[in-house]
Amino acid sequence: MSSISICWLRRDLRLHDNAALYHALRSGQPVLPLFIFDREILDRLEDRYDRRVEFIYHHILRLQEELTAMGSSMLVRYGTPIEVFNELLGEYEVSDVFTNRDYEAYAHDRDTAISGQLREHGISFQTFKDQVIFETDEVMSGGGTPYTVFTPYSRRWKQTLTDFQLKSYPTEKYFANFHKTAPLPIPTLEEMNFQSTESVFPASNVSENLLRGYAERRNFPAVEGSSRQSVHLRFGTISVRDLSRQARAQNETFLNELIWRDFYFQILHHFPRVGRGRAFRPEYERINWRNNEEEFRAWCEGRTGYPIVDAGMRQMNETGWMHNRVRMIAASFMIKHLLIDWRWGEAYFAKKLIDYDLAANNGGWQWAAGSGCDAAPYFRVFNPTLQTQKFDPNLDYVKRWVPDLASLDYPRPIVPHEFARERALKVYKETLQK
Ligand code: FAD
Repeated sequence: MSSISICWLRRDLRLHDNAALYHALRSGQPVLPLFIFDREILDRLEDRYDRRVEFIYHHILRLQEELTAMGSSMLVRYGTPIEVFNELLGEYEVSDVFTNRDYEAYAHDRDTAISGQLREHGISFQTFKDQVIFETDEVMSGGGTPYTVFTPYSRRWKQTLTDFQLKSYPTEKYFANFHKTAPLPIPTLEEMNFQSTESVFPASNVSENLLRGYAERRNFPAVEGSSRQSVHLRFGTISVRDLSRQARAQNETFLNELIWRDFYFQILHHFPRVGRGRAFRPEYERINWRNNEEEFRAWCEGRTGYPIVDAGMRQMNETGWMHNRVRMIAASFMIKHLLIDWRWGEAYFAKKLIDYDLAANNGGWQWAAGSGCDAAPYFRVFNPTLQTQKFDPNLDYVKRWVPDLASLDYPRPIVPHEFARERALKVYKETLQK
């Protein structure tokens, strides 16, 4: 048995410009790319029609095609990572495992366990930065503390940026170094107890034309004004370096959105409590939420009687994606108008969003609740009607997702706006003054 290196893909499902793969291919051993359908994650998903699993599956098949054309293969297993590595160590002589870093708590614990397991067999576990431009403490304030406010963070981010961070890893140069093998079998979705959702996913590219109008159009949910790259960034089917290079050359507003992504990753790294259900600002833990379950269900199902909120929730339920402006309105509505704990909404989005990402989702929810770093002040309560007049003046978006708007069956507003606003301000004020 000749020895191989494994490149373990997780949130980086591409062969192009992939840091771990680049280092693996240059290491001297033939490289076999591995993907594990992780039962620790999959078994917890309630819905057997999960768009994310399908998205991953679809891209694994694409990688398999690319690798087969080069006389190699993906190595795809279904199980827990510990079990899978146990199996693989019996089947292959593995010299090294290369992978890209993943910053969530579960991933961190998993990687610590696997690294220990491999060490016992004398196998190295090498990790690389790939899914962000700057990670952990690469962008810190002059005093050496993490930034908790976006604007100074983004300023420092831009000052620290050089061409080096945006350079692609030229993996293509080393493609001859993939392990040569006949195509290895891939478990089917059905074998893993999932069904196809027949979803259509956005393409992984951004046109110059879209970026030209991005700043003016991105807030209007009825138009194709934003990039729809969130799912690709989530699973690494696009390189953040390629996208950031394009953003830097073509549209600074778009680059800023990518910086928000890095910002929330570093918040999660420096303040891991936010990923464990804690408010960034501890005083917000004391809010006395109403947590009415029936109202929560109406919000989830898009039946609040506030058309812009209902449109957003229905768009997410039907497609797995919601426009950013509407995410802000829907989140604010659940928290402030209904006084439901932001963690309920965070969990619901986590279940439904195809681009679900712990750091960005938590950041968005805590921003809306006022409990986060650099959050909207608590006394700013979005008025759904004014937001609609501003961002969907012709109701194009609302009518698309709420076709029953004019029907007698469409619900009356679940709570009057002014009453809800006063109630929220009172509860927040009382809590924060204590
Ligand atoms: P574009 O406007 O084209 O932005 C380009 C990219 O920048 C996005 O793909 C995303 O990677 C990044 N980005 C943009 N805005 C943000 C932001 N505020 N925070 C972090 N990254 C950002 N984004 C997620 O990727 N996953 C989530 O789970 C998620 N949950 C959210 C929950 C709430 C309550 C809110 C208010 C926002 C959330 N966002 C989340 C951020 C944002 O809504 C989405 O990234 C965006 O709508 C994705 O669409 P797009 O790719 O067309 O965005």
